[in-house]
Amino acid sequence: MLGTGTSHGVPMIGCECATCLSTDPRDKRSRASILIQTDGPAVLVDTTTDLRMQALAHGIKRVDAIVYTHSHADHVMGLDEVRRFNVMQKSAIPCYGDARTLADLRRIYSYIFSPHTHRGGGIPQVVLAQIAGEFCIGPATLVPVPLVHGARTIFGYRIGSFAYLTDCSAIPDASWPLLSGVRTVVLDALRERPHPTHMSLEQALATVAKLGPERAFFTHMCHDLPHAATCARLPAGVELAYDGLAFEIDL
Ligand SMILES: [Zn+2]
Ligand SMILES: [Zn+2]
Ligand SMILES: [Zn+2]
Repeated sequence: MLGTGTSHGVPMIGCECATCLSTDPRDKRSRASILIQTDGPAVLVDTTTDLRMQALAHGIKRVDAIVYTHSHADHVMGLDEVRRFNVMQKSAIPCYGDARTLADLRRIYSYIFSPHTHRGGGIPQVVLAQIAGEFCIGPATLVPVPLVHGARTIFGYRIGSFAYLTDCSAIPDASWPLLSGVRTVVLDALRERPHPTHMSLEQALATVAKLGPERAFFTHMCHDLPHAATCARLPAGVELAYDGLAFEIDL
């Protein structure tokens, strides 16, 4: 887990609440992202605003593919940082996403995709790939799982017995069969109070109870959920994720 925070990050700029002032490293949350290290390729999910510091903090030396959940700013604004991986790997990096995400990337990062950009200045080398059903990266098969994120539908991903479900306010009926038998899940849980585009802690707990995984980790938390105090009142098998948390998944 490279980042487990909401779009503002934790601590938030200018906030002096107990979580933002906490000295517990698990209360320092960069923007939501994970790295899936297979026996072969390393798969980065989203390129957050904090990508550079995440790569430095966790010693990431390769990114073989990027998979986007959606194009909200906190999930895409680090794309320019992939230039370092281009240089080290001497290759372009495939970026997978839905049609809207790829269209947004072309618009937000017009300098990357414009044929008129002068090429001498170090531009990310990426190849956009629109997702049409499940797809494979090395030994991993990724199943896109449509999620309701407010007014928008975005993708979570199932990989083997693992599911990464960030940025969702609900799991639509048609997506439940795609999650059958999941043993480890990472799920959006923004805060206690309801929110139009994210699950509350209560909604996330109800979703976990319905999914029935062995382990559940919450992500995309804001400063309303201090790590230690919140984890102390969660049921067995459920905990808040934190930046740097690593676990094994069965591909
Ligand atoms: Zn987000
Ligand atoms: Zn705060
Ligand atoms: Zn979002």
